[in-house]
Amino acid sequence: MKKPGNKILRIRGYALALIFIGMGVMYLGVFFREYPLVFSIFLLIGMLPIILSFVIYFWVGMISTRAITVQCPNCEKHTKILGHVDFCQHCKEPLTIDKELEGEDFSLDYNVDHRRKKAIEELNDKKQK
Ligand SMILES: [Zn+2]
Repeated sequence: MKKPGNKILRIRGYALALIFIGMGVMYLGVFFREYPLVFSIFLLIGMLPIILSFVIYFWVGMISTRAITVQCPNCEKHTKILGHVDFCQHCKEPLTIDKELEGEDFSLDYNVDHRRKKAIEELNDKKQK
């Protein structure tokens, strides 16, 4: 199974894929260049994913200013964390900004507020016993 990657890199990957999809659709339109109407419809449909990917790039730029830069304990490079848990951009080490969750089994549940709180509560319960 492929390990999930860093969130910001993953979103950028999707945006890049959208550009290729858009270009692919536009390229298909070339086969219909004798029919200007069909050709322009292909161009328009191809434009949509490209516009969407620009929106995504813009959005990634905004959220990455909010992301926290940390030094990865595994590869010692600097990486950006989005949300409470994320993966290192370089070595895909799972990282968390919650002290309580350090060293625990990694779960994407921790990105959901109430599930993370529940997990922290359960961990505290375990420690008290
Ligand atoms: Zn790392």
